Amino acid sequence: MDERNREIPPEVIERVKKLREEIEYHNYRYYVLDSPVISDAEYDALMRELRELEAKYPELITPDSPTQRVGFKPAEAFREVPHKEPMLSLDDAIEEEEVREFDRRIKRFLNLPPETPIEYTVEPKIDGVAVEIVYENGILTVAGTRGDGYVGEDVTNNVKTIKTIPLRLRPFDEAPPIPPRLDVRGEVYMNKDEFKRINEERINRGELPFANPRNASAGSLRQLDPQITAQRKLDIFFYGVGYVEGYKFQTQWEILQTLPKWGLKVNPLVKVVSNIEEAIRYHHEIERIRDTLPYEIDGVVIKVNDLSLWEKLGVKARSPRYALAYKFQPTQATTQLIDVIFQVGRTGAVTPVAVLKPVKIGGVVVERATLHNEDIIKKLDIRIGDYVLVQRAGDVIPEIVMPIKERRKGDEKEIKFPTHCPICGTQLVKRPGEAVWRCPNRGCYAQGVRKLLHFASRNAMNIEGLGEKVAQELIDRGMVQNPADLYYLKLEDFMKLSGFAYKKAKNLFQAIERSKRTTLSRFLYALGIRHVGEAMAQLLASRFKSLDKLMQATMSDLVAIPGVGPEAAKSIVEFFRDEENRRMIQRLLDAGITFVEEKELEELPQVFSGETFVFTGTLKNFTREEVKELVQKLGGRVTDSVSRSVNYIVVGENPGSKYLKAQALGLKILNEEEFLNLLREKGISVEAMVSLQK
Ligand code: NAD
Repeated sequence: MDERNREIPPEVIERVKKLREEIEYHNYRYYVLDSPVISDAEYDALMRELRELEAKYPELITPDSPTQRVGFKPAEAFREVPHKEPMLSLDDAIEEEEVREFDRRIKRFLNLPPETPIEYTVEPKIDGVAVEIVYENGILTVAGTRGDGYVGEDVTNNVKTIKTIPLRLRPFDEAPPIPPRLDVRGEVYMNKDEFKRINEERINRGELPFANPRNASAGSLRQLDPQITAQRKLDIFFYGVGYVEGYKFQTQWEILQTLPKWGLKVNPLVKVVSNIEEAIRYHHEIERIRDTLPYEIDGVVIKVNDLSLWEKLGVKARSPRYALAYKFQPTQATTQLIDVIFQVGRTGAVTPVAVLKPVKIGGVVVERATLHNEDIIKKLDIRIGDYVLVQRAGDVIPEIVMPIKERRKGDEKEIKFPTHCPICGTQLVKRPGEAVWRCPNRGCYAQGVRKLLHFASRNAMNIEGLGEKVAQELIDRGMVQNPADLYYLKLEDFMKLSGFAYKKAKNLFQAIERSKRTTLSRFLYALGIRHVGEAMAQLLASRFKSLDKLMQATMSDLVAIPGVGPEAAKSIVEFFRDEENRRMIQRLLDAGITFVEEKELEELPQVFSGETFVFTGTLKNFTREEVKELVQKLGGRVTDSVSRSVNYIVVGENPGSKYLKAQALGLKILNEEEFLNLLREKGISVEAMVSLQK
């Protein structure tokens, strides 16, 4: 049927209208207010539905449809900055097949045979906010946000507060001369730590946290007062150019290589690959290390490397044909809030925890999420029975971002915050300026358990085998009142614990013994002082170098250290002034806690100390040099001469005369497998050792 004459079903027209209204609203929340009310995945689904309807009924496409436009027009409060070359959005894909289709489409467009490999650059897709910075004769003159792609907001003064953005370009490393005009593009972002810090501050004040680092960066950059931007630690990765005068780049890779030589920071993980399958592999590699990166990324960007092809491929209404955002699986999902329970933490803070209808996010089933505190619950107006947006990113505790009020039926129930500790019944208190309710009872069972678990946790004293059940039982039975008591328990004491026979008890006892050798920073972190997280503990340890000195430090000593704020300083001084805490620390030291450097901690246990080995014949897993080094690292000695003072002779294939001599002397003879077993018996992970040698 002729498309122009066909009837479009009225429900389609209605749906398209509704979708556009909804998307416009979400664009406004996202781009103007930096405060989205649905997840990106949900937003993408709306966009996808609209795109599909428009593809089916192209006569419905209007120039102002959200599918035809980039971002949002600049907010009125800002001066406008036009972009000489439009700053477009990117098409996105989540599935591998969509990525292969992108590659096929390019070849169809260029009339290339399907098997022709195309070279791409692959770059992490930084989750921040795009800016274009204009350098004229090397001097930063104007910086603008992307805005609607053609006109952005003038954020020049804000951008100038970002220390990694040069105010003047300089050619380093045999760089080409700085072009007379260079419009360079990059993503302004916020480190995960800074994001966490700012959100914690907001939560403590009872303000709503930013939904993600991207909103936090956008919100921090789009400030009318650059002073506020300056206080947030923002950073940038440059990834491309717009209009350039007096210089012609040939490839995207050349751009990525040249920008750093002019002083513009490029992400170190960028690469060039020779075909689309390598690009897909890169995506998987980056997804694997995603959580270890200090900044948030939400996918990788694949770009055709050859810039002459960019011209041939051209752009669509809102995105170019030569690039694709290959995104990771979403980190947010919607589910129902079934109940709220209240947990008492090690500092007595009472945290509301959401009990959720289980939902899969990024491959992990989420059933619990934090609701932060009472003020946040009130601000978000969350009710039991609500559908809620849940977010899980990296190793942080999942959190509720907001309720989906549109889905309310009317029978949702208000969340009642307790007035008394749910564990010990003591009346809760709130400190001035804080949003957290706390149980003030130091003897509170729940606090005891949490403190002990924190003390034993991997990054603190690293006591393996001391999990929740054991901690509860130790406190229940009165065996432990504070962490120092752990070190005064005997092997037999652990055998009283339920499910503990000799072996398990011995393992736990030994783990506690081993933990006596620790670092000052681990110890400080283990103490559970408020505001002293791992990073702060490391800072304090490196500054003071001794526990004694830190214990005597005054407020002014502490605040003089960059990175220690008045709140942390106060909490540290109060902690060490407290008699009970001082007694606990003394008992810990009396028990034999000693401080070494972290690298010494990583040294292998000296299980072969005082023992001598002889090796003869060829080993399967090690060369002679490797096995010698291994035994030495474990404290043993390796010799070539067989005598009575040798403890073990390890025999590989085709042994020499040493074997016969050892037999004659009646020495202990091991084959390679028996040697590996000996290592295992000594608690050495053979698998780790063998790979360590390779
Ligand atoms: P996009 O963020 O998906 O991709 C384009 C942007 O990627 C560029 O502008 C640039 O800022 C960034 N980028 C990062 N690293 C890059 C690199 N190496 N090379 C090139 N670009 C790089 O597209 P968009 O148009 O900015 O926004 C769409 C996104 O915003 C979608 O994920 C959508 O879900 C989300 N959104 C959500 C809502 C909501 O209500 N939740 C509303 C609007 C938009």
